[in-house]
Amino acid sequence: MKMIQDFDFKGIKAIVRVDFNVPLDKATLAVTDDTRIRGALPTIRKITGDGGSAILMSHLGRPQGVMPKYSLKPVLPVLEKHLGKKVLFADDCAGESAATMATALKPGEVLLLENVRFYPEEEGKPVLPETATDEEKKAAKAELKVKQKEFAKRLAGYADVYVNDAFGTAHRAHGTTAVIADFFPKDKIMFGFLINSELEAMDKVLNNSQRPFTAIMGGAKVSDKIMLIENLLNKVDNLIIGGGMTYTFIKARGGRIGNSLCEEDKLGLALEILKKAEEKNVKLYLPVDSLNGNKFDNDAETRVTAVDEVDDGWLGLDIAEKTIKQFSEVIENSKTILWNGPMGVFEMEKFSKGTTAIAKAIAAATQKGAFSLIGGGDSVAAINKNGLADKVSYVSTGGGAMLEYMEGKKLPGITAIRGE
Ligand code: AMP
Repeated sequence: MKMIQDFDFKGIKAIVRVDFNVPLDKATLAVTDDTRIRGALPTIRKITGDGGSAILMSHLGRPQGVMPKYSLKPVLPVLEKHLGKKVLFADDCAGESAATMATALKPGEVLLLENVRFYPEEEGKPVLPETATDEEKKAAKAELKVKQKEFAKRLAGYADVYVNDAFGTAHRAHGTTAVIADFFPKDKIMFGFLINSELEAMDKVLNNSQRPFTAIMGGAKVSDKIMLIENLLNKVDNLIIGGGMTYTFIKARGGRIGNSLCEEDKLGLALEILKKAEEKNVKLYLPVDSLNGNKFDNDAETRVTAVDEVDDGWLGLDIAEKTIKQFSEVIENSKTILWNGPMGVFEMEKFSKGTTAIAKAIAAATQKGAFSLIGGGDSVAAINKNGLADKVSYVSTGGGAMLEYMEGKKLPGITAIRGE
């Protein structure tokens, strides 16, 4: 595996998988948040700065075939503005024109290919009628897998080296995220700067953490986070649990949770987690008090109770003062912090205080020298909303990919390069 910083791209054509899956304004199709485009700039600049040329490929949204509203064209002006130069565009990533443009590309030039998901080959998931039998599904999938290889090989033919810098899709075994790497010699494939920094941040937390190490888990469901929690129990000193999943734990312990979110079929699992934490000497913190609403609405009437005394007709929608104080203290005394998932229904102003307080405590701990890693769309949104992105150590760009890596899973986009 080559390291991008050591590679000289002079006279080299690089095909780069980037993550330009950016949000677009529904009416104008203008890019509304260019964070992901900015994330790819260091890699693009390194390639063109060395005197190489970059062929960029990405997906946008979940098109079923060619759908103009998922075109990558709106990315073009934003990219041109950031790079300060013209960027070429090929409106069919695997068509004749793309191949011709790639061949004609000169040192320093950048070519953006149209959405790779306009081809079902990219994801390798056939679109079939609901009436299709299992046999038919299997046959279609096998056929598409063959076509996926051809598709990846065709794109690989545009360039001398392959660079993967799309962390957000690294957990997908798609044509341009993994399969394509097979069509290059081992010393011609590498990660871009973004994936490198994501891996560095995650490895620092998982394998090189300074103590105490505190993980803060929130969000709606225990079931979504169970694998992460189990893996973290082998690593952390403190595990803080908040958000909707709290109430499954509280009910499992015999508390009253009223109409709060609860996964009835996960009560046993919640007790097992509590037991495992004890066995592994992990201090597990659950909220002690709860801010409840009489309906799931920002206009709800509210009241605070002990977390295990939520009355019927009421729902626990955020952590309350005592919990905020306790959680903040634990966080501010930590040297390594991982945060995934909000502490309450933070989308509603009335129930956003807990999440904001945790974001601030993490920023304060970071100022005191802790390393903090924030992942998952909602936690990242909370950090950004409070203007704290510069006050934490690392904000991950890939929610799902980060979760899977942290769970201890192998990500196809990572293994394709590392050769594991
Ligand atoms: P996740 O995608 O699992 O991280 O969950 C995020 C969602 O959990 C957000 O949309 C929050 O509104 C929601 N959430 C957090 N706390 C609660 C709660 N106490 N009750 C219901 N939903 C919650």
